[in-house]
Amino acid sequence: MSKKEVILTGDRATGQLHLGHLAGSVLKRVELQETHDQTILVADMQGLTDNGHDPKKVSENILNVVADYLSVGIDPTKTTICLQSKLPALAELTMFYSNIVTVSRLERNPTVRNEIKNKGFDKVIPAGFLNYPISQAADITAFNATLIPVGDDQLPMIEQTNEIVRKMNSIVGKPVLSECRSLLSDMPRLPSLDGKTKMSKSAGNTITLDVTNKELKKLVNKMYTDDNHLTIDMPGQIEGNVVFSYLDAFYKDKAHLAELKAHYQRGGLGDGQTKKVLLECLIELITPFRKRRQELMSDKGELIRVLKEGTEKSQIITGETCEKIKQGLGLSLF
Ligand code: ATP
Ligand code: MG
Repeated sequence: MSKKEVILTGDRATGQLHLGHLAGSVLKRVELQETHDQTILVADMQGLTDNGHDPKKVSENILNVVADYLSVGIDPTKTTICLQSKLPALAELTMFYSNIVTVSRLERNPTVRNEIKNKGFDKVIPAGFLNYPISQAADITAFNATLIPVGDDQLPMIEQTNEIVRKMNSIVGKPVLSECRSLLSDMPRLPSLDGKTKMSKSAGNTITLDVTNKELKKLVNKMYTDDNHLTIDMPGQIEGNVVFSYLDAFYKDKAHLAELKAHYQRGGLGDGQTKKVLLECLIELITPFRKRRQELMSDKGELIRVLKEGTEKSQIITGETCEKIKQGLGLSLF
């Protein structure tokens, strides 16, 4: 049976996957592999765009990311997992596309602008960093991907990719590249434990898949709830309550969760009780992932084999797209 649509997704190899990733899109990818032709790109080159002087941060995380994906149920016989730096066509396409995108267009990309501010790059932006939306467009188009699962922070990248697709197709004079659309995650950002920011690798506030039950208990106990919920009988607030944000993301019995929320709001349900429910839920979720991950990390040769196999398959597809562009531009004389 031929599969429906080509999906390209992936993550920068700058750290382990965390619960924010699980809530956002990673668990969805496990479902999508059943119905779609899915490729996961382990983006080591993109990871270097803001870590150029610290390559270890990226190199040490490549197999971590592969193990994370496999441990949550990504099946390499259904999903292709590949390594960006071993796909030279992506770098070549980035070069070709760089000539049809202006610097001011890159500077206008709201995600990049935001990141430049957050990373303190205002005066010293690495050229590769400014250019990363183009490299992302190269990734997407090289695989002929038409469906891209993303968080809302990534929407400007899809827009910019489609601009490049239209421009390149018009230069070449035929539709060599395919436009893509986003598959938006319906999950709001998973907050950090204090509820003040989102969980993210760079903030160093993540809960990763190798967390032990003991560590998890400590982390759940630290979660911000509601400052005004002083006694159990008092009504409590759900909005901004980190425990309920995590329950929303991971608690499967939605009817029971609605009851818990109503009980909390009218009073009589303590934070100790809601945290206990969450802890049990997270332990149930993470324990099988942690065990599987441990096994996977004990055989790095096998992880490398999986990554190599997926990469070799991807070299063919991405190479073909790059060749089409070269032919379209009249460069392919031999
Ligand atoms: P960094 O701090 O380096 O930006 P990160 O932890 O934010 O890393 P990204 O690699 O930026 O992770 O995230 C990739 C994708 O994962 C995002 O586009 C988003 O969809 C999803 N994601 C990341 N953090 C969260 C979160 N806290 N909640 C939900 N989704 C998230
Ligand atoms: Mg991020």
